[in-house]
Amino acid sequence: MYDKIIDKNNPDSALSVQEAIGKKPSDINTQYVAKLKKRREISVDEYVNGILNSDRVMLSQAITLVESSLAAHQQKAQQIIERCLPYAGKSIRVGITGVPGVGKSTTIEALGVKLTRSGHKLAVLAIDPTSEKTKGSILGDKTRMEELATDPNAFIRPSPSAGSLGGVARKTREIIILCEAAGFDTVFVETVGVGQSEVVAHSMVDFFLLLQLANAGDELQGIKRGIMEMADAISINKAELDPNRAELAATQYRSALSLFPQNENGWKPVVFTSSAYTGSGIDKMWDTIMEYVAQTKANGHFYKKRNEQNLRILSESINSTLTERFYNSEFVESRLEQLKQDVLDDKISAYIAAQRLIEGYFDNLTK
Ligand code: GDP
Repeated sequence: MYDKIIDKNNPDSALSVQEAIGKKPSDINTQYVAKLKKRREISVDEYVNGILNSDRVMLSQAITLVESSLAAHQQKAQQIIERCLPYAGKSIRVGITGVPGVGKSTTIEALGVKLTRSGHKLAVLAIDPTSEKTKGSILGDKTRMEELATDPNAFIRPSPSAGSLGGVARKTREIIILCEAAGFDTVFVETVGVGQSEVVAHSMVDFFLLLQLANAGDELQGIKRGIMEMADAISINKAELDPNRAELAATQYRSALSLFPQNENGWKPVVFTSSAYTGSGIDKMWDTIMEYVAQTKANGHFYKKRNEQNLRILSESINSTLTERFYNSEFVESRLEQLKQDVLDDKISAYIAAQRLIEGYFDNLTK
């Protein structure tokens, strides 16, 4: 009897069973989803046009792709980089190193503000292989560059955390390309003067500035002779604390540097004192960089150095790709352990073992 009263199939019946509960309100949702999708799916063209038009949001998002480890992001990032490459290379790239606390960020802020006020567009990047652990110890604390952080002519980006120094280096180089294509004419690469990160920073900049403190022995500052050799200028920072001591330290560094062999590019490293607090020496810092650029452009070494840096990246990347493929191949994986044992047991010499493994690997590839 109830079956007759409850006519499920009659939509006008007040007793009909409502199926609409589980249905989505389609018109609102689809629009929203489409919008979201559109926002996520920015095309390579849009990224490139955005970057070339100095759109900071596009630049930031493209950098996020460069930093991503997802294969799809990487593929897109590489396309963007390739398209930006013809517009890159026009900036002055400056590396700034020194132990934590020497005043790198404060100096970058002082010099950076001076530059943006005079019409420059400045990108500040960092190389910090520890950023994975410390969540960006360099540039993580943006309050250290308060003014630059809100300056429309400055762009600050913390170190990519890529797991390995090689990974961080590659990503930083790629970020430099994007920043240059976006019209930044000056790029600072900040790095801590410990470990290998300064060597990596040096390999991608035109000019390398080392900040030091007066009256702290080299050992105390963790500065190796190698870093001093890489420096195109050394500045004794916090000089206002004790100007005489700072001058004395500068003299000592000058005489230490005079013992080093002459640079191939003819440049004699300059030593001066500075204070990021009072601003003394900050003009000198920039004048020195400009002088270096003028001199090395005139004698051809500016572009020679860039070419060498580029060719080094080419060969390093061939080496690392070959090595990775070799060790990850089934052939090598299946034979390496036994071969090691044979070498240890003096059954085969290490050279012959290496040769056989490499030849076997290539023979196996062509099969
Ligand atoms: P970083 O670790 O090398 O980046 O060093 P910071 O820029 O963070 O500076 C470390 C500390 O030194 C901070 O407390 C700064 O305020 C201070 N500092 C930086 N430059 C100067 C300076 O020229 N004079 C003095 N007295 N202190 C400075």
